[in-house]
Order: sequence, then structure tokens, then C-alpha cells
Amino acid sequence: MGMLVAKKQIGEKCVICEQAKRKGIHLYTSFICVDCEHDLISTDTSNPKYKYFLKQLRKITNPEIFS
Ligand SMILES: [Zn+2]
Repeated sequence: MGMLVAKKQIGEKCVICEQAKRKGIHLYTSFICVDCEHDLISTDTSNPKYKYFLKQLRKITNPEIFS
């Protein structure tokens, strides 16, 4: 025991792409990287991709309520 060292994480896990990124914004308690933030803003609401974003974002705004 005692071999486990808590490493300081580089970056945070983005809720949309689920990758650790260093730059981004915080929404509620979650993190969105700059890439996804930009994608989200530039994606039209009629784009199927937008639904994916909403699905991912729903995890932030309504955690486990409708499950
Ligand atoms: Zn991301």
C-alpha cells in the first residue's frame, strides 16, 4: 500500500466530447471545452449534431431525473 499517488489532472473532462481538455468554460458543475463550445455555437439547431449536444447537455441540467 501507499503506492497510489494522486496525480494532478491536466485539464478537465469535457461533458460533450468526453475528453480531457485544458481550455473551456464551466456550466453549472460541468466543463465544456472551447472546441465544443465553439461547435455548439456554430451548429444550427436544425443540424442533427445539435441534438447530440442537447443530449450531452441534458446530463448537466437534468441529472438523472427522467431516467
Ligand atoms: Zn469537448
